Formats: sequence, structure tokens, C-alpha cells
Amino acid sequence: MRRRPARREPTGPETSLLARLHDVLGEDGLRTGRLGRATYRRDASFLNAEPLAVALPRTRQETAEVLRACRDARVPFTPRAAGTGLAGGATPTGEAGARPVVVSVARMDRLRELDVANRRAWVEPGLVNARLGRAAAAVGLRFAPDPASQIAATLGGNVATNAGGIHVLTYGVMSQHVLAVELMDADGVVHLLDGGRAEQTGLDLRGVSVGGEGTLGIVVGACLRLLPAPPAVGTLLAGFPSLERAAAAVAALVTSDRLPDAVELMDARAVSLVEGYAHAGYPQDAAAVLLLEYEGLPAGVDAGVGTAERLAAEHGATSVVRAESAEQRARIWKGRKAVAGAIAKRAPDFYLQDVVVPRSRLGEMLDRVVAIGERERLEILTVVHAGDGNLHPFVLFDRREDGVMERVFAAGHDIVAAALALDGTITGEHGVGIEKRDFLGEVFDADDLAVQRAVRDAMEPSGLANPDKVLPTTVGCGEARMVPEGAWV
Ligand SMILES: Cc1cc2nc3c(=O)[nH]c(=O)nc-3n(C[C@H](O)[C@H](O)[C@H](O)COP(=O)(O)OP(=O)(O)OC[C@H]3O[C@@H](n4cnc5c(N)ncnc54)[C@H](O)[C@@H]3O)c2cc1C
Repeated sequence: MRRRPARREPTGPETSLLARLHDVLGEDGLRTGRLGRATYRRDASFLNAEPLAVALPRTRQETAEVLRACRDARVPFTPRAAGTGLAGGATPTGEAGARPVVVSVARMDRLRELDVANRRAWVEPGLVNARLGRAAAAVGLRFAPDPASQIAATLGGNVATNAGGIHVLTYGVMSQHVLAVELMDADGVVHLLDGGRAEQTGLDLRGVSVGGEGTLGIVVGACLRLLPAPPAVGTLLAGFPSLERAAAAVAALVTSDRLPDAVELMDARAVSLVEGYAHAGYPQDAAAVLLLEYEGLPAGVDAGVGTAERLAAEHGATSVVRAESAEQRARIWKGRKAVAGAIAKRAPDFYLQDVVVPRSRLGEMLDRVVAIGERERLEILTVVHAGDGNLHPFVLFDRREDGVMERVFAAGHDIVAAALALDGTITGEHGVGIEKRDFLGEVFDADDLAVQRAVRDAMEPSGLANPDKVLPTTVGCGEARMVPEGAWV
């Protein structure tokens, strides 16, 4: 167990900043006490640091005043929304010296406009993803990005992390659904990046800002694309006798003439854990299950389901069940989305990895994850957005166990290294944050990184917006640490 760092009292300039923030936000909009700040020490990762204060602005004007106060005091700020991020992006690390102010956008959560005629929505950043989904469904539309965290994660957070989800295979990640971003810089000025239309005008700064992870400023609004709700949906649950057969079935499904809209894989550990928790009806004798979905006109959906049934059988499926009702379909997906909740009954801590490999190497990667778990004596269960080769191994542990963190970090490091060795990459959807910051040098060379830094410096010249995140420090190739020293407690 690491010892909790000694409490730091605010310095003189910090005290002046806190007084100014109090004038802007009042008692209810500012947390400066130990307890109030403790809640904002970490996101859903275990990366952990103490903020100077937590600002909870209710309006754009208040947000601008908070950022101007930080700028004048030369104190960095960490944007935060629901805190479901898994890469420590919203963790207020202060490696640059000063402790940051966490600026939570959670209270700015209005659906500003549901523009049915133009199939788009203008939203505030704190609006929760699932709330937009429900509002769109009520008028026959649909917001496609559906991260498993969608009942809590916000749209601002989804923009900032370029979130993915279960239907990425055909609908793409968040970036494909963002028509405009309103980005507030460290001077409190809002820049409209693109105009909310399908067509792009000028340099694609909207594209640059999606996935900025708070390093370019604060997303204070966004215009999002809505799609027509599909007239028919077919959902299948298939059990396989081995991970290899399930992975081979995935390869066959995504190269067939009927591309599924979602292909999710869960290993036996995930299946058994979830079944006891969500009662989703998953086959308990299977070594792996696939969850498949086809959307569109009824005839196309039926044809897709037929193809999937045939290919599953050809790859040795031991069971194939088609959802017969909306309730059964919801139950099947509830199981997939309940994995993190189910884990809480099994282990006090988990470390959720996020790597990508080419689909054709999925089987190899799954084998490597199993071997890493055995080597580090850690229980690892894996769920996969299999259609796009995006694996999420959950490493289960209890941080109170002596020496366990070293094994957890070693497992995380080796999972990322294995993905890179298989021609994959370090993150599919959770982002880089602080967790994988020093791994970026394994993906891009120094010249590529210099361009990224130059763009960031041009868009955010103050250097105060989430300064320690995403872009690596001076760590050289091969020296990358899984998690920077001192970033967890
Ligand atoms: C159980 C579970 C399942 C998950 N499943 C998925 C999944 O399927 N797909 C997926 O992509 N992710 C998934 N995630 C990760 C997480 O939900 C996403 O990264 C999500 O987009 C984060 O949204 P948030 O509102 O919680 O943002 P936060 O965690 O608060 O912040 C995330 C990052 O965005 C920045 N940020 C937040 N709001 C703003 C803003 N308004 N302006 C600028 N920067 C901002 C923060 O500084 C930070 O760097 C999952 C997480 C959990 C816990």
C-alpha cells in the first residue's frame, strides 16, 4: 500500500484564485474542502491526484470566468464531465507544478435543440448520452454512438474522448457523428468549429478537437448527427466451444456479404460473472459467446440473421438463439453492458485495458491475454468489440494485496506490447489520457509527435488546458511506462 501524501495548504496566489472562484460560483459551485475535492481525485481508472479545487459552473459565462481566473493565476485546469473515463484524462495530475482546478461541466446538461428536420441536435456538454438517445427515439430518430457507459457518460466527454461503442462497426466512432464543436479556450472565448452541416468548410478543426481529451480547451456545446431509427432489428446470441472458433466466426461474419451492425465477443469468465448478476440468458457451457446485431429493412435483417446462423454453425457454435422480443434483446445487451458492475461483486478493483489488433489476429491476441494473466497470476476476463478488433481485458485485483500493483501494471504493459507486436494500436476508444501518454512514442515517431504538439500549442497557446495529458514527455522508445510514476495512490 502506498502512503497517502501529506496535505498541501494553498499558497498565497492559490488562495487569491480560490477567492475569485468563490465570487464567480458561490458556495454551491466550488469545492475546496478535503472531502469535496476527494470525489474528483480520479475518473473510472485508478489514477489519482489531488486538485486544488473543483469548479462546478452552471453556465457558459461562469465557465469563461473560471478559465480567466485560472489563466490570470497561471493555474492549469482539468475539464471533467461524468468521470467515467478510463485513461486518467480527468484525473487532476499536476506534474507541471501547480495543482489544477477541476472544471466540471456536469451541470450544463441541457438538450438545447432537437432539430428533427435537419436530423441533428445541439447539446450542452454535460448531457448524458442515453438521455439524447431517449429524446431522439421519441421522434423516430437515433443517436448512434453507444458506449457501454452511456447511462452515465456525457456527450461532452464522448466528444473529448472520441468515444466508440457497440455499433462502431457500421456507424463509426463519435467523430463521424459530430457536426460542430463549440470550444472554449483558456481566455474564455468560444470558437465555433464547423457549422453543424454534413459538409466541411475550411480546415477540419472540428475533427482535430474531437478526441482532444481536454487538452485544447473545454467543449461547451456540440451539434450531433441523428439518424433514422432502423425499422427492424435482429439480435443473436451464439455460444462457441473455444475462443479460437469464436474469433474465426467473427472473421467470417465481417467478410460475408451481410455485414453485422454489431459483433461483440465475451470470454467464458465474463459470461459466467455476468450471468450471475444480470441474468441475461447467456450459455454457461460456452468458452466464448458472440452477440450479433443486424439492423435495417426486415428482409435485409432476416437475410443477415440467416447468414449469421449458417456461419456460426459452420464454425462449431454449440448454441444460437435469436431474440424473439424487445425485452429479450434488451436482456442480451444488458448483460454485455453490465460487465463492470458484475465485477464489483467479484473483486474490489479492476484495471480495464483497451487495445486494438487487426481482426485477422484476434485469436492470437486472445491467447496472449490468457498467457499474460497466467504469468502474472491475475484473473483477466475479456470482452471485445470484435467487429473492429478492439479488446477490453479487465484485470481483476485487490489493491490491498502486497505487490499486486506491480503485477497489474506489468500485465497492462504486456497487453499493450502484445497488441503493438500484432500490428495493432494502444487504444481503441478510451483515449490516451495519462495512462498511455508515454506509449504514444511507440505509435508515432518524433516528427509525427512534433506536428501534434505544434497543433496543440497553436490551438491552446496558454498550456493550461489539461497540460499533462495525451502527448508524451521525453520518454524514449522502449522505455514507456504503463502509468507514470506517482499517478496512483
Ligand atoms: C463501465 C464502462 C464502460 C465503458 N465503455 C465504453 C465504451 O463502450 N466506449 C467508449 O468509448 N468508452 C467507454 N468507457 C469510457 C468512458 O465512458 C468514455 O471515455 C466517455 O466518453 C467519458 O465520458 P465522461 O463524461 O465520463 O468524461 P470524463 O471521464 O469526465 O472525461 C474524459 C476525458 O474527456 C475530457 N473532457 C470531459 N468533458 C470535457 C469537455 N466538456 N470539454 C473538454 N474535455 C472534456 C476530460 O478532461 C478527460 O480527458 C467506459 C467506461 C466505463 C466505466
